[in-house]
Amino acid sequence: MNELGAKYVAPSAEAARTREAVVKWLNDRAVSLAEIAELVYEIQKGYISGLTLRDCLESVERVLEKREVQNAVLTGLALDILAEKGQLGEPLLTMLREDDSLYGIDEILALSVVNIYGSIGLTNFGYLDKVKPGVIGRANNQKGKKVNTFLDDILSAVVAAAAARLAHRARDTGLEKKFRPA
Ligand SMILES: [Mg+2]
Repeated sequence: MNELGAKYVAPSAEAARTREAVVKWLNDRAVSLAEIAELVYEIQKGYISGLTLRDCLESVERVLEKREVQNAVLTGLALDILAEKGQLGEPLLTMLREDDSLYGIDEILALSVVNIYGSIGLTNFGYLDKVKPGVIGRANNQKGKKVNTFLDDILSAVVAAAAARLAHRARDTGLEKKFRPA
């Protein structure tokens, strides 16, 4: 057990295999787990005593072992890739290629990841989706060259979920930083 009380339960062989596929798909879209972990650290460091990048990377890995997360990542990235190759029918193809702001299913799919860790996850997701820091902004800025309609929301959701997971664990283990009024 580490300081954040992460009693490690090894994933099943199937979950581990699917996680490897998820990591490979993300890498193929030029996203590393280290970059995702950096954003988790940035949004959570003010709230947890002694938080390390390693804790954040571990949290991202645990989140990516959950089946509903794996399914959301694989589904979203598959749709981005198919749209990029022009292999979807109209009018869906154009909506995805142009990241139509009224499409909305990219956010809905991402919420299936965010909801796992409750309302802290939802608040984090809203912030990340608006500010688009780091790798999320990079994914969003590739518009025109790549189709990343689902990727930016998926990344925001994974960061939000990994951060919310740490927040719950910090409360449980007494590592939560106490709010001090100015
Ligand atoms: Mg999007």
